Amino acid sequence: SDLKALIEKRVRDVADFPEPGVVFKDITPLLGDVDAFRAVVDALGDGYGPIDAVAGLEARGFVFAAPVALALGAAFVPIRKVGKLPARTLRRTYDLEYGSATVEVHADAFTPGARVLIVDDVLATGGTARAAADLVREAGGTVVGFSVVMELAFLNGRDRLTDVPLRALTTV
Ligand code: IMP
Repeated sequence: SDLKALIEKRVRDVADFPEPGVVFKDITPLLGDVDAFRAVVDALGDGYGPIDAVAGLEARGFVFAAPVALALGAAFVPIRKVGKLPARTLRRTYDLEYGSATVEVHADAFTPGARVLIVDDVLATGGTARAAADLVREAGGTVVGFSVVMELAFLNGRDRLTDVPLRALTTV
């Protein structure tokens, strides 16, 4: 589609970042193209029905999730790396290739049963996405969907999210 072609044109491959052998998908050219950014924000939030809150994953997920929230007339909720949120939090730790990562959400971020859309830039192994969906549920939200700009299919992250409707605007 036009949107897929636009995203593929505006997401740049950066070799050997953040470490040798990794090809990093850099979304900053997309953010620099007003029409592409707007089209992506619209597509991330479109068609889910009523949404009470859009949860964004630190840090690039915030950049997409906040405008999606405004476009849908929904609240924005940050899911952050451990130690950044000031009030009482719930947390999830998950494995990375080397070591682990922990993400948090404010315990009172959602009203019970709130319909929540989670938004991030890139789905890779799915560890971050899995932790986010579990956190939203633990905090009392209902995960209505998970939207990402780009899915790296060779990392099979989708297999870890079989209980969540996953939308990837592009799959590479
Ligand atoms: P996962 O937990 O392995 O799926 O990694 C997903 C998280 O890492 C997301 O929050 C992404 O922002 C980030 N990430 C992983 N690979 C890339 C990439 O190539 N470009 C941008 N972000 C990435």
